[in-house]
Amino acid sequence: MKSRLLIVGAGFAGAVLARELAETNRYELRVIDSRSHVAGNCHTERDPGTGIMMHCYGPHIFHTDNAQVWAYVNRFAEFMPFVNRVKAFTRGELFRLPVNLHTINQFFNKQMSPAEARLYIESLAEHFDHPPENFEEQALHMIGRDLYDAFFYGYTKKQWGCEPAELPAGILKRLPLRFTDDDNYYADPWQGIPKSGYTHLVERILDHSAIDCALDTPFTPDMASLADHVFFTGPLDGYFDHCFGRLGYRTVYWARHQHRGDYQGNPVVNYPDLSVPYTRIHEHKHFAPWENHEATVVMTEYSKETQKGDTPYYPKRLPADMQKLQRYRALALTQGGVSFLGRLGTYRYMDMHHVIAESLQFAQTFAAADAGQTSLPVFPNQELSQ
Ligand code: UDP
Repeated sequence: MKSRLLIVGAGFAGAVLARELAETNRYELRVIDSRSHVAGNCHTERDPGTGIMMHCYGPHIFHTDNAQVWAYVNRFAEFMPFVNRVKAFTRGELFRLPVNLHTINQFFNKQMSPAEARLYIESLAEHFDHPPENFEEQALHMIGRDLYDAFFYGYTKKQWGCEPAELPAGILKRLPLRFTDDDNYYADPWQGIPKSGYTHLVERILDHSAIDCALDTPFTPDMASLADHVFFTGPLDGYFDHCFGRLGYRTVYWARHQHRGDYQGNPVVNYPDLSVPYTRIHEHKHFAPWENHEATVVMTEYSKETQKGDTPYYPKRLPADMQKLQRYRALALTQGGVSFLGRLGTYRYMDMHHVIAESLQFAQTFAAADAGQTSLPVFPNQELSQ
């Protein structure tokens, strides 16, 4: 008889895991989600009034340097070419991100060559007697005080709700610094947006005879007794009723407006100035430039601390959070019968492609351990810092 597995969460982590395990032909999978749609925070749906494909929980641009992951998503959806070109409005001017030659010349009102700009930025970079230990040190070391203050300090303080010096340096390492005019926000070889949206893509991944998917179905502990194993992709601290306290997350919320024509001429404009209460504005029809719409829908994004009932988005990973995370992980390892994965289950700042790669790998690890009757993996990652 096939083992019965319960997967909590129908985002990328849960859906990819379900599909991979279904294809082994050894399991029956039940995937549940408390929301009324699959795809988690990647969910897209057409705005009923305008027909525009909305990224309902904020912009999602798929990018990866992993050929296996790119082939995997293209198996389930048609991807349209898309290059994310983000702008930042700061000090009364519109600049191109990520910080590149054009940005540097515009900001300092110079006409430097790539080599001159590199030397100039090196002359502005701050040096410490230790490797950069936090976001602020990383930024000052990379681009110096002036660019940091204009593009990063205010934005990061608004988005994360704390001093950038309290945040891990790794957050900034997500963004490239370029001495060419290339303003592609990502440095990955593959980038695109699924033509029919992310929800359709995840529905296709889940479309397998061994997978049964139930929406509007929150997890309750009694469900575990009906399954041979549970995979939990919701918040790790939530699984344990926050017994060691809440892990810190930022959440985002939006003011949604509809206009005629074009509102800002670009998918995303960031607002780093602290005097502006929001962090960015996204205009969703520009995420589908292959479509034509007379009207436009924009979302102005604000950020706040996650309270009970809010959707968690960005794991803060402050030192106090990491201590709690260690306790939750230790507790998880004592449970038996349950594994944790995904952004929320492992409390890491992961992109879609990271989550998919890890679920593909975890399915293999789990199936091999199960077949060999060795101990089943509890987390996909060994290191807290990953
Ligand atoms: N960031 C910033 N200014 C910007 C854009 C990004 O300070 O205009 C910082 C901010 O702290 C953010 C981090 O860089 O959390 C990573 O940015 P990314 O665009 O990767 O964030 P995401 O797309 O996940 O919201």
